[in-house]
Amino acid sequence: MQVCNLCVMDSQIPGIIFSSDGQCNYCKEFVEMISKTILHDPLQRELDLKRFITRVKDDGVGKPYDCIIGLSGGVDSAWVLYVAKQLGLRPLAVHMDNGWNSELAQSNIEGLVRKLGIDLHTHVIDWQEYRGLMQAFFDADVVDVELLYDNAMLGANYRLASKHGIKWILSGTNKSTEGMSMPPGWNWFKLDARNIRRIASQKGGVRLKTFPAIGVIEHIWLERFRKVKWVSFLDYMDYRKEEALLVLEKECGFRRYPYKHYESIFTRFYQGFILPEKFGIDKRKLHLSTLVASQQMNREDAIQMLREIPYPSFADLQADKQYFLKKMNWTNELLENYLSRPRVDHSVYGSELGFWNASSKFYKFCKKIVSARQVKS
Ligand SMILES: [Zn+2]
Repeated sequence: MQVCNLCVMDSQIPGIIFSSDGQCNYCKEFVEMISKTILHDPLQRELDLKRFITRVKDDGVGKPYDCIIGLSGGVDSAWVLYVAKQLGLRPLAVHMDNGWNSELAQSNIEGLVRKLGIDLHTHVIDWQEYRGLMQAFFDADVVDVELLYDNAMLGANYRLASKHGIKWILSGTNKSTEGMSMPPGWNWFKLDARNIRRIASQKGGVRLKTFPAIGVIEHIWLERFRKVKWVSFLDYMDYRKEEALLVLEKECGFRRYPYKHYESIFTRFYQGFILPEKFGIDKRKLHLSTLVASQQMNREDAIQMLREIPYPSFADLQADKQYFLKKMNWTNELLENYLSRPRVDHSVYGSELGFWNASSKFYKFCKKIVSARQVKS
């Protein structure tokens, strides 16, 4: 097995190509991208941030809040909230409760909003409904079970913004710690309400009631006509995760997680056990490679982490497994049976991805015509 000599991506990753000097295409493209974007001219970026903050404040005049910030309980979104508050914004924090929050995440979220004096809206999805949807996704053998959480988070954020007339959603997604391209087949299109509904109806007949699914048409309507914008806020600054953590620990009593996305018990079991066991995917390779390539982590430390299991200890993994079985009402045999079945592509069940690609192309085409006309006149 060949490992990239700059990051920790290896020859098991789909779509990987090594150059003659042993560097992989993933980190090569990533380094090129951040050198043009987040590492480009700090003064210009500071100016851009100032302009952006002024715009958000202006758009929020006369409204109870000027932006929405989705809080997962993780460091990235916690840092968005902290910085936004320091810069004088008036955010409404939104959290999605899908029944899998760890106690640590719950206490981190409560501590943050209390300390910063920010209103928190928690969207609760009925547990029986969410459990039914998860069961349908497991029965469908598709890779991206987290599509459920990610889509619902998008839906809840956009609808709340639209309801309160808020133009800006500030997100913790960022190039600095997550900017490396996701390998093909490792996840699925996140605005795929059709995929969710079809899997739900074909595998168990679950009806969506409290689940705020969002699809392409609603997204286009909210973005283009209601002018709600989703912004990767941390790309406006030199985001360093470790430095952010130290401030959050000191100022807000934040307590750190052993790995990325460990704020949800399901997410950590999914990434630490289901993905590697059923789908042969170890997402740590991507997360750690991004940190190594953006010089936030030593390559040797990343290699050492990959030698260990994706859990602080074997006992922790066993505890999560038991928790998962009990919460999903599964036996060990059911889990073994699920793990042994081959994967099925999301597109088999119907998808909005083709429509999204076509509408994106059409939008770009229209934009080109409009700008060409403006140049002429
Ligand atoms: Zn690499």
